[in-house]
Amino acid sequence: MAVDVGRPSTWIKYRSGLCQGCWGGCCTLPVEVSAVDLFRLELATEDEAAASLKKLARRLEKDGVIQHFNPRTQVFTLEQRHGRDCIFLDAKTRLCTVYEKRPEVCRKFPRIGPRPGWCPAMPKAQGPR
Ligand code: SF4
Repeated sequence: MAVDVGRPSTWIKYRSGLCQGCWGGCCTLPVEVSAVDLFRLELATEDEAAASLKKLARRLEKDGVIQHFNPRTQVFTLEQRHGRDCIFLDAKTRLCTVYEKRPEVCRKFPRIGPRPGWCPAMPKAQGPR
């Protein structure tokens, strides 16, 4: 069965080395981040967040950095390029351009995610265009 990022039942059991040469399907899933992630990414300052998270969310939305903010959970969802790739994913290399500063959720994937322990791995050449 072909891997379909939108259908976790088609995903592959994660094992070390699987990321090598992968198309980065995990980086096409919606990325939910906290204010702390935004500080690490240097997209916001602690002062700005302390003043108003809603105001910060409006500014980040205008800047094309986030697509959504949930005031109840205080979770921001990063914008996606063409509704798919994370804005920090290099379209050609399929590598993260902010790897050292990447959000917590990216560090924990696939330990946490839609199907813990499984991922939408596929060789770069076979990934959707
Ligand atoms: S921040 Fe980096 S690791 Fe996280 S989804 Fe975006 S490209 Fe992938």
